[in-house]
Amino acid sequence: MAVNLLEQLHRGRISGEGPDGYPCRIPGVPGVPILLDIWPQNSYAVFCFIKRGLNSANASVMALRRNPVLSCRRPAESRWLLAKKQRQPRTPSTPPAQAPQRPAWQEVSRFMLLEREVEIQHRPLMLAALQEKVNALADSLRGQTPACSRCAQPMQRHDSEAVSWVALFGRLHTTVVRYRCSACQHERRPLLDLLGVEPGRISGSLARLLALLAVVAPYSLAAQLAGLLLGVKISAMGVWKVVQRLGESAARYSEGMSQYHADSRSEGASTQDAPPVVVLSVDGCRLGMQVRKQRRRRQGDEVLPPLPPVEEGRFQDVKTGVLLWPSERVETSPGRHSLVRRFLVSCLGDADAIFARLYAQLRELGWVGADTVVVIVGDGAEWIWNRATMFVRRCEILDFWHALEHAWAFARLCYGEGSRADRWVHQMAEDLKAGKVEEIIAQLKRMRPNTPELRESLQSLIAYYSEHAGRMRYDEYLRLGYGIGSGAVESAHKQVVHARFRQAGMRWSEAGARRLLALRLLLLNDHWALLDRLPMVSVA
Ligand SMILES: [Zn+2]
Repeated sequence: MAVNLLEQLHRGRISGEGPDGYPCRIPGVPGVPILLDIWPQNSYAVFCFIKRGLNSANASVMALRRNPVLSCRRPAESRWLLAKKQRQPRTPSTPPAQAPQRPAWQEVSRFMLLEREVEIQHRPLMLAALQEKVNALADSLRGQTPACSRCAQPMQRHDSEAVSWVALFGRLHTTVVRYRCSACQHERRPLLDLLGVEPGRISGSLARLLALLAVVAPYSLAAQLAGLLLGVKISAMGVWKVVQRLGESAARYSEGMSQYHADSRSEGASTQDAPPVVVLSVDGCRLGMQVRKQRRRRQGDEVLPPLPPVEEGRFQDVKTGVLLWPSERVETSPGRHSLVRRFLVSCLGDADAIFARLYAQLRELGWVGADTVVVIVGDGAEWIWNRATMFVRRCEILDFWHALEHAWAFARLCYGEGSRADRWVHQMAEDLKAGKVEEIIAQLKRMRPNTPELRESLQSLIAYYSEHAGRMRYDEYLRLGYGIGSGAVESAHKQVVHARFRQAGMRWSEAGARRLLALRLLLLNDHWALLDRLPMVSVA
């Protein structure tokens, strides 16, 4: 069952139901397992090992796809390095004499019962206490005549209305008086303005807790978590709505920030404490987008037809940038580095959009002073280097692993899988780290491969290294402590985007992805508390 579903999913035949930005779930299909997590700061040897293993495994899978007959052949010994352990012959087990016992449950501990009992008893008390505070506030307004917020005339009492809204501990009730301005007909309900609640909706603090759950888990799971953690019954759709309203607010805030700092008249933070060096790196991937422009609405009991498969081109770029101080990198264990702090910036859209965000964040932090060198680490992508020129004092670095990946491609073609290719690339890695990029290019130019395919691969390697030679002074970058890899941004990008947006079968509307992304960044940048200061906007 699960296998069939997965297979269909890969062929794009399955699509789930759901509103815009609401991830489609496929029943019975667990998340796709991640085979290997390549920690960016792994030692070079580990990197080579993993890389070779992955590439061999990929190559084998591709070969199987092309030629099913191969599947009967035993894979070559040098491949399946990682799979070897699982390929040990199994000894057939003899069935036990007795049928196995059903696993037993234990009694729920006494303290757990006590803890929950108190919680259940006190929930209504909390609600009552909150209701009392609301009543006191309502009483304090009694007899006061508000002034019109438009024309400042005193307003007249118009009518009163019983309203309620839902908070974490339950539903609250009050009566609100409506006032009307006789001059301009403007209406006000001062108690609601004062409380900042919306009649019939959920309270702001509960909304923020639900959004927090949805930022880390798919909507349906977030709704389930709300029940388990908060004791609040809500549908996945209810959580989705909250995210749209708060996410829109967060997204508008960061877009506004970007525009604000893009104007030279705007004031950035003081650059008095700006570091001598700040590292900026960017990475991107594509999100599967929904095919429909409009949200589908169900009429009565009508069953909606499944969504059509994702068409080619129904993807949108999402880019992540990381800002950090190289001086704040600490080695937590040998070969494993972590950062004291980093700032993540992410957005749907093109290169200009992400660089505008990064620039705004740098100004907001006050991290680029007159003498600050901006170190830009990137893969070979042209859009990064084109935008890097916006920083006058900069150092461009081609990600070391990307540089090696190109060497691997040629080595594998030239020497096949095995120790000769390993040694060749290993030597190249050592030479690159020693800053001998010109020597390497000269050496490559002296090679005389004997097939057209090899010659072409060699030419492309030479062209790539020649183009980026100025960004491959790895000895210098290491000496200056700038770092040479884009590992920080790659892991950040996975954390921001892949972990929430690229789960099995998920598809997004532009607005849905943009809003959730804005909220997720608040959490990952440890700015979640800021959300209290942003309004819950209305979204169509
Ligand atoms: Zn008025």
